[in-house]
Amino acid sequence: LPDNGWTPEQISLARTSAADGLERALGDDNSAVAVDVVSIVQWMAGRPLDEPYLAMLLEELALSGDERAPRRRIERSDGEAPVVAVIGAGMSGIATAHRLDQAGIDYVVLEKNADIGGTWLENRYPGCRVDLPNHVYSYSNAQRTDWPHHHSTQDVLRDYFRSCADEWDVTANTRFGVRVESMRWDEDTQQWTLSLSGPDGPDDLKVNAVVSAVGQLNRPKMPDIDGRDNFAGLAFHSSAWPEDLDLTNKRVVVIGTGASAMQFIPHVAAQAAHLTVCQRTPAWLLERPVYHEPISEGLTELFDLLPDYHHWYRLRQFWQIHHGALDALRRDPAWDGPLERAVSPMNDLMRETLTQYLHDQFAERPDLLDQVVPDYPVGAKRFVLDNGIWAETLMRDNVSLVTDPIDEITSDGVVTGGANMHEADVIIYGTGFDASRFLTPMKVIGRDGADLHQRWGDDARAYLGMAIPEFPNLFCLYGPNTNIVFNGSIIFFSECAARYVAETLATVFDEGHRSIEIKRSVWESFVADIDDRNAEMAWGISTVSSWYKSANGRIAQNWPFPLLDYWTATRQPDLEQYVVT
Ligand code: NAP
Repeated sequence: LPDNGWTPEQISLARTSAADGLERALGDDNSAVAVDVVSIVQWMAGRPLDEPYLAMLLEELALSGDERAPRRRIERSDGEAPVVAVIGAGMSGIATAHRLDQAGIDYVVLEKNADIGGTWLENRYPGCRVDLPNHVYSYSNAQRTDWPHHHSTQDVLRDYFRSCADEWDVTANTRFGVRVESMRWDEDTQQWTLSLSGPDGPDDLKVNAVVSAVGQLNRPKMPDIDGRDNFAGLAFHSSAWPEDLDLTNKRVVVIGTGASAMQFIPHVAAQAAHLTVCQRTPAWLLERPVYHEPISEGLTELFDLLPDYHHWYRLRQFWQIHHGALDALRRDPAWDGPLERAVSPMNDLMRETLTQYLHDQFAERPDLLDQVVPDYPVGAKRFVLDNGIWAETLMRDNVSLVTDPIDEITSDGVVTGGANMHEADVIIYGTGFDASRFLTPMKVIGRDGADLHQRWGDDARAYLGMAIPEFPNLFCLYGPNTNIVFNGSIIFFSECAARYVAETLATVFDEGHRSIEIKRSVWESFVADIDDRNAEMAWGISTVSSWYKSANGRIAQNWPFPLLDYWTATRQPDLEQYVVT
């Protein structure tokens, strides 16, 4: 709704009250300084909130600086101190390492790259930036006032994660250039043995527990197109962008129009002699006028002047993003329209709004509308943010949008629709990642020789995305079914999971146990609940292709419940759900 549904009178009253409050807060009148935090949170939410919600929001607000530190710490000094290996020094790995440290647990981070940052280190394509509002795409315990943009660029995010890792001593505890090839659980010693390859050759490492924080979106997926290897020019995947690439005077073909490609395509179009965009499925665009805009001077001034204002600004974003949006993506039995179009009346209303946006954007080129308006329900695939740049790019004279199927790749270019040859000097694959093959290519052998990938087949399942029967003392972050489509920041999930892992392991080790393993019945019932709910969501109902589905069609990626449910489930470990040894 425009202005969040507020009337002009309400907006005027809010402005006057805010100006008055600011004047008093910055002047000598101390009455404005007494802040009733709970009332403000309720006011922001627009309704009274009951306890679990309120507690989650206050934690996310983090006025004390850090509200998610583990409440349990290892105090025992007898015997050998347990050590945990964290695989991956990206966003989730950094958060986990820090929480383990706060819980008094020794850890080592194993990172295949030469630096901190994970996906924000690897993806350097032009235009790469976070498509969530940046304040909320940050750790609750490392909130910043100085984000340069509403959606900061890759280098800014890489530096942010690096600085958090430095500040929390994670960098100092990371072994860089080290790849975990395989890991095996030893029932006698109740330890994992990791086989590593690194700068000094192969190596074994014994640890008491392992946290995999390897991400979902880091194994490039190259399409299975005939003749791919025959191409004579330069070809690369978006996550392997060549340094100093100059596309001036080049004929470029881009395959794919997902979130990554739609960020780099405008930059390629601005340089190349000609760009052919091969699109299989269009994305729904969400209008975001400030997508590329810097934070305004006024806002920067507020962050500087008003103590804690950035915490409130961030919380407001958290609330706006996560609340309510999920309902619009769930099937409503009252909806009697075709499910290929929408899954509920609210979902259909969204469709109409987003379709109108596309009509407005392509008003000068109505001939393109058939190609750019999606034919699947809103929410079945990931949205892409837009500030008008997509239509602007596709309407350029040097850009052609091709939606015929790709037949083959030859030495000279890409052939589509039977006989249309698109000659190219460069082919760029914006074809996404092998998201559903979690924890590959590592080989993971658990209790009694159980092979993780054989157990999973094409279909990864883990309790709360973290724990798997037969694999004691192994936790996954950003694991199966913890991705969110529309209603929040993945950092929130990683923070919840990192605290859960640190508290669980601190409890286990502090009480003198050696290992824990999730009970099969708990895992089974969790997976059944997830599957039932995913089957009601736009992404579970629609047959459109997306990385949310495993090879067998099951949704192995997405969390279909409100964020509150994940927060509640991970708030406190419950060892009754595990077999403790
Ligand atoms: P993606 O969303 O999986 O997109 C892959 C694209 O390649 C799709 O357009 C797909 O078409 C196309 N494609 C794949 N195989 C093809 C084939 N054989 N022939 C023709 N087209 C083919 O991958 P992505 O764009 O890298 O994004 C993945 C995820 O990363 C995003 O959804 C998002 O979660 C994350 N991401 C985030 C940001 C951010 O926050 N800034 C930026 C980029 C990515 P179909 O749609 O028909 O399958």
